[in-house]
Amino acid sequence: MGTPSASSGAPWTPSRSRRCVPTSEQQGKSSIRGKILHVDLGTRASREESIPASVHALLVGGKGLGIYLLLRTPRGCNPLGPENDLILITGPLTGTMAPCACKFGIVTKSPATGGFLDAYSSGKIGPAIKHAGYDAVILHGVAPTQQVIVIDDGRVDFHDAGSLAVSGLAPLQVDARLRKRFGHEYACASIGLAGERESLVAGIFADQRCAGRGGGGTVMGSKNVKAVLVKGTRPVPVADPEAFKTAAWIARRYIRSGESTVRALPLLGTANIVDTINATHVLPTRNFQAGHFAGASEIDGESWREHYWNEAVTGGRRSGNIACQHCAISCSKIARAKEQPGRDDPSFPETVQELDHQVVIDGPEYETIFSLGSNIGNADREVLLKANYLCDHYGIDTISTGVIIGMLMEAAEKGIIGKDDLDGIAPSWGDAVAIFQLIRKIGTMDGCGATIGKGVRAIARRWPATAPLAMHVKGLELPGYDPRHARGMGLCYAVSDRGACHLHAFTASVEAMGNAGGMDPFDMGQRKLDLFLTLQAESALVDSSITCFFTLNGMQAKELVSLLRTATGLDFFKGQDSVRKHAARVLALTRLYNYREGLTANDYALPGRILKETHATGPASGIAFPDMAPLLAAYYKEMGWSSDGKPTPATLAALGITPALQDLIEP
Ligand code: SF4
Repeated sequence: MGTPSASSGAPWTPSRSRRCVPTSEQQGKSSIRGKILHVDLGTRASREESIPASVHALLVGGKGLGIYLLLRTPRGCNPLGPENDLILITGPLTGTMAPCACKFGIVTKSPATGGFLDAYSSGKIGPAIKHAGYDAVILHGVAPTQQVIVIDDGRVDFHDAGSLAVSGLAPLQVDARLRKRFGHEYACASIGLAGERESLVAGIFADQRCAGRGGGGTVMGSKNVKAVLVKGTRPVPVADPEAFKTAAWIARRYIRSGESTVRALPLLGTANIVDTINATHVLPTRNFQAGHFAGASEIDGESWREHYWNEAVTGGRRSGNIACQHCAISCSKIARAKEQPGRDDPSFPETVQELDHQVVIDGPEYETIFSLGSNIGNADREVLLKANYLCDHYGIDTISTGVIIGMLMEAAEKGIIGKDDLDGIAPSWGDAVAIFQLIRKIGTMDGCGATIGKGVRAIARRWPATAPLAMHVKGLELPGYDPRHARGMGLCYAVSDRGACHLHAFTASVEAMGNAGGMDPFDMGQRKLDLFLTLQAESALVDSSITCFFTLNGMQAKELVSLLRTATGLDFFKGQDSVRKHAARVLALTRLYNYREGLTANDYALPGRILKETHATGPASGIAFPDMAPLLAAYYKEMGWSSDGKPTPATLAALGITPALQDLIEP
């Protein structure tokens, strides 16, 4: 629809008295664009909005900017209705030469939890948005027919997805077809069939990676958007080029000095932790009934390297290491199935022309190895690879998918549900046919897929006797760390704003993997809380700058702060505890958003299985998970929240969250 008209008019302008608010001259040299692009899908109008520099000064960008923008949506809106927004977000380092910053995020109201959702992924669409001149693109409303949105610097065009022959296709096909049609200089984010059919576990895919958690792809599907293409040609300046260059050099040196960033991740990807997590009985097995999987050595990093990531074994064809743009680590792996189904194989019709009808994946990553491996009793690498491929094909989150399948397998084993409930599918642990069939159901929403594609909470509602088997927090399925022998992860899952999220404060890295000298996995005292608060602050910093989580395995928060300062000219993090204060500010807003949308303190709770059932073997065997209340109370106190977990007015004032911004929270 042509070039948008520039407009400003943010509904909230915070005080400009903060010391790091830049002058207009400084802003022109900042890596922050200071503009977002609004795209109205219903009217096909688009417009730009200037974001006051004081918003960035307070909230940085990425997640911080995302919650600021999401708070403008109407209270109580339907996550799959026109009033919810889908926000494609970048960070201050996106589009610069900062190491490992080739990422983007999505922020929206989650259809899985009904609360705040942020999810991040590698993908060139992040830098493309920045090069097009924006910090974020917001999709409003619903398109009358399925569309592909093409953004070319400031120009926005709408194309009928049907005419482009991409409706119903897999994200990889969509990416290949659209970039062939529009040009390879475009970056693409798209959804698969699951997003179109509103499976609640659908993700948004970019460059074979996925912002998978919480149903971002479902929101995109509900808006009738199949893909967003972005091309940007404008340079992204930095405030102090020489200082930024030095900061990037130092950051890269630190990243290249970590044991995990130099050896483990490049060699074995995130799969490098499988053996350690299994040895410490933290690897969720058979729907979280145990923390140790006898078949783990068949699906650990070494085994993938020996059989799938070794180019000599796979003939050098699309296998081995790859990396995101400007990455200093290279954790990604490409694996190709050994037994290819063949182009006309009726038992595996999902192979596509664009991949030469080959089953190829980026991975598998640790989370997929747990979810489609140990958690469903599967020690067969080839089956796991094909299951991963099917998830990518339909555009669904592998974590949630594996936890759904694990729940169904246990429910079938216990005789709670049977073949008649699942369109003739009889799930049993590790059964390849059932695994593939169930993924197809979740991905297509056909038959029983209409229920199981909505996640474990929906399954528990449909078959109430399965409720004790539903492993979720707030409707988001648990990721791959059993809290019974890494209790910090219990707090992590419970208090995370998006539901069960391992990245909110990844204490398992210390409790189970022994980083930083290790810490007693059973401890739930002040020492654990201090660790938790430090990791939580680092995660919030990573999410607001949108850099790769793994960089902090080499560099520290201060290197990231230095990159942010020299790129933006803003001294966000001055004074004691400034990184923790940033986290406190952003998390206060996401917590208040969740309360505004109807969640309560009771929603911040672990599944009954974790609290009531003990492991049969291993260090946590027979040891009950203690009452979480004292740890939660201590956490709330540290955060300056009330006893029911609500940020107090005094805390909000101390964090610089003004009454005007609070009006967005409680209109
Ligand atoms: S470490 Fe892995 S996920 Fe992170 S930027 Fe590098 S390749 Fe991408």
